[in-house]
Amino acid sequence: MSGRPLFIALLALAATACANVTAYPTPDPAIATTPTESAPTPRERVAAFLESCEKWDEWDKPAPPFQILGNTWYVGTCGISAILVTNPQGHVLIDSGTESGAEIVLANIRRAGFEPNDVRYLLHSHEHFDHVGGFAKIREATGAEILASSVAAEVLRNGLVSEGDPQATSLDPMAPVEVARIVENGEVLKLGDLELTAHATPGHTPGALSWTWTACSNPGEPPVCRRIAYVDSLSPVSAEGYRFSDHPDYVGAFLTSIDRVRALPCDELFTPHPSASGMIENMRTGKIASCTDYAAALTRKLDERLAKEAAQ
Ligand SMILES: [Zn+2]
Repeated sequence: MSGRPLFIALLALAATACANVTAYPTPDPAIATTPTESAPTPRERVAAFLESCEKWDEWDKPAPPFQILGNTWYVGTCGISAILVTNPQGHVLIDSGTESGAEIVLANIRRAGFEPNDVRYLLHSHEHFDHVGGFAKIREATGAEILASSVAAEVLRNGLVSEGDPQATSLDPMAPVEVARIVENGEVLKLGDLELTAHATPGHTPGALSWTWTACSNPGEPPVCRRIAYVDSLSPVSAEGYRFSDHPDYVGAFLTSIDRVRALPCDELFTPHPSASGMIENMRTGKIASCTDYAAALTRKLDERLAKEAAQ
C-alpha cells in the first residue's frame, strides 16, 4: 500500500486540528512587529535620573529607576527613596513614598523590568506618611506582606502617628494597612540567598528601622560586592513645643541608634531622604556615602538641638 493516502489523511487531520486552534488568540501584529526596545544600560539609567532630579527635590516628583548594584535598585521619586532588592524567590521593597508617590514606585518597578506582583515583602524606614503613606496602595497592588517594628506596626494598623513621636501633633493620618509580622532588632529576613538585617534606630521616630544587606554585580560585569546600608533619618525634628531634653530615655535610645549606625556593616549608605546622604551630588561626583560620616553628622545635629533647648 502506497503511503500517499495516509499522507493525505494526515493533511486532512492537520487541517482539522488547525481549524480547532482558532480559539487561541492570534498574535497582535502591533506587538509582534514592533522591535523590542532594548533596556537602557545602568549608565544610561543614572544619567536619566540625574536629568530628571535636582539636588533638593519634591517628594512626588517622578524619577526613572536606576540600578545601585546587582540586585539593588532605586525605585523612588526624586525626593523620597524606595529601594527594591530583587531575588528569584521574590523581591523586597523598602518604603513606598507618599500615597501618590506609591504610583511612581510601582511604575518604576515595572520600568526596571520587574513585576509588582513579585514583591513579597514590604519593609519600612520610619513610620511617617512620606515613607509609608503609600503602604496600603503598594500592598493592594503587590499582595506583599508588611513587616514592621512593633511601634511602626501600630501606626500602620491604625493610620495614626504614635504618641511618643516627637512630631506626633503635627502629622496627618494615613490609610490603615494590615501588618503581617513584627520584626525585632537584629532579625535577619531570609529569601533564597538574600539576607536583610533589621536594625532598630529610633530617634526621628520611635519605630524607625534601618536595613543592611550585600549587593553583588550581575554575572558578566566586573565582580564587586558591597554591603549596602539603608539608614533612617535620625534627625531631631519635632512638633512645636516638644523638647527632646524632657525625654531623657528617648534621647538615650537616639544616641544608641547613632552608635549603631556607626558600627553597621556599610560600604555604601542610602537614606530615606536622598538629600540626607547627598545621593544626587554623590551620583554626579562618584562619591560613596559612608555610615561613619553620617553618624558624625547626626551626632552634631542632636548635640546642636539639645544645646539650643538648654539655652531656651
Ligand atoms: Zn521623612
